[in-house]
Amino acid sequence: MSDLLTLTPEGLYCPEAGVHIDPVRPVEKAVITHGHADHARSGHGAVLATGQTLDIMAIRYGENFCGSAQAIGYGETLKLRDVEISLHPAGHVLGSAQVLLSSAGRRTVVSGDYKRQADPTCAPFEVVPCDTFVTEATFGLPVFRHPPAREEIAKLLSSLELFPEQTHLVGAYALGKAQRVLAELRAAGYQKTVYLHGALEKLTAYYRSQGIELGDVEPVGQRGKELAGEIVMCPPGQLSDRWSRRFGDPVAAMASGWMRVRARARQRGAELPLILSDHADWDDLCRTILETGAEQIWVTHGAEEALVHWCELNGRNARPLNMIGYDDGEDADVARAAQG
Ligand SMILES: [Zn+2]
Ligand SMILES: [Zn+2]
Repeated sequence: MSDLLTLTPEGLYCPEAGVHIDPVRPVEKAVITHGHADHARSGHGAVLATGQTLDIMAIRYGENFCGSAQAIGYGETLKLRDVEISLHPAGHVLGSAQVLLSSAGRRTVVSGDYKRQADPTCAPFEVVPCDTFVTEATFGLPVFRHPPAREEIAKLLSSLELFPEQTHLVGAYALGKAQRVLAELRAAGYQKTVYLHGALEKLTAYYRSQGIELGDVEPVGQRGKELAGEIVMCPPGQLSDRWSRRFGDPVAAMASGWMRVRARARQRGAELPLILSDHADWDDLCRTILETGAEQIWVTHGAEEALVHWCELNGRNARPLNMIGYDDGEDADVARAAQG
């Protein structure tokens, strides 16, 4: 057991500092790791997070998403009673952070969601040495090995070449994934305008306001068949929705770590699965656990048992947290996949 953290019905709690981390219900004081809806909820009293996470929460929930908000930069330290709190890049989405709690020589890190793959749209993950490491395990099975992003983007671009008459519709989550696909397309040399479904506009505009290069984007608006041969991005749910019929017979692509699982790609209606994840794959989960040097590993979000077993084989104490309430897009898919 980490003496700095306990598990409450609201989520992870640090009694010495009096703060919850990513609580699933309204609490007095919360530290928020990143803007995905299952981690960042509205209605808390005081919220501490990076400025970008606070901005994203305001975009999603409105300015009054909490009683009072305090921004803290990466690497800055804040003292709450006897506990020092600092945030460190998690490499997951813009503004995402790991939370380091330290007191009397004990160090506990809550990773939130994280990845180790390069991502042009956010600061890279930083290894933070600690005694207790709380890791996600969204892709906590050895079958999950994410290919390099550029290989997946190359699949999309070669499909565009092969089928120049068809609109290429790319399903991607509104926060993080959509912008990463855009940035990777630009890195691969694709310079044409990319068209966005309305649900992706606000967050994409926010990323651009933060200096992330995403090239020319335009709302789809009322357009349909005139976007033959173009790339159109939309939330995953729109791929097989009526909305997609306006493009005639589009090529449906979906960018997600779950595209490794063929049944999931079929279920999503994705003919062109792009394995592009904002979560660490199996190798990166294991590597990260070793690099933190932590003796105690708490595993949450996903295939917990397999990673707990791996930790034990590697001489670490590990426990599955079995927390409920973390279920945004990709994470919800995990739970379903784990259940069969
Ligand atoms: Zn997330
Ligand atoms: Zn998550």
